[in-house]
Amino acid sequence: MTTAPESLALLADEAASCTACGLAEGRTQVVFGTGAPDADVVFVGEAPGAREDEQGVPFVGRSGQLLDRLLAEELGVERSDVYIANVVKCRPPDNRDPRPDEIAACRPWLAHQLDLVDPAVIVTLGNFASRLLLDTATGITKLRGADYRYGNPPRHLVPTFHPAAALRGGAGVLADMRSDFGRARNLMMAS
Ligand code: SF4
Repeated sequence: MTTAPESLALLADEAASCTACGLAEGRTQVVFGTGAPDADVVFVGEAPGAREDEQGVPFVGRSGQLLDRLLAEELGVERSDVYIANVVKCRPPDNRDPRPDEIAACRPWLAHQLDLVDPAVIVTLGNFASRLLLDTATGITKLRGADYRYGNPPRHLVPTFHPAAALRGGAGVLADMRSDFGRARNLMMAS
């Protein structure tokens, strides 16, 4: 019987050759996810950008640096202590939004990841991931500031802004993200 880390590695190997949607044609590589296979918290973003596509790692560049900073300052952990993934694993051309058919094709990968990592808390980063996982049209500005239940077995889901929004939006957005990360930390500690 395989352990969860082995199963996650096998799943990543399987995903690396996925051609279930048209995004396979333009990618450099599948950006599956990174971090601790038994993490208490999983961060979920939208889709890889150009740098992520090049490096095969989610959340690199300035957004990734801000995420790392918030992890250290609000959760007291490093990137390698958590698990980070995107809803869609291949880069959409010109960084356009993923289409519904692409999201539907890719969603089982994230579902399997969440099953295997089995976190107590999921933090969705930005409008796209938050709306999708909570199955709502409500925007992140209204969604954030609370925690929700997601999946079966139910886990805590804490929606917050995408780090890119904090880089654009300044101190107010960053303060809200710090508050949301603090909520995630408290939920992790209580679980
Ligand atoms: Fe497969 Fe997802 Fe990449 Fe589409 S985006 S090819 S479903 S891994």
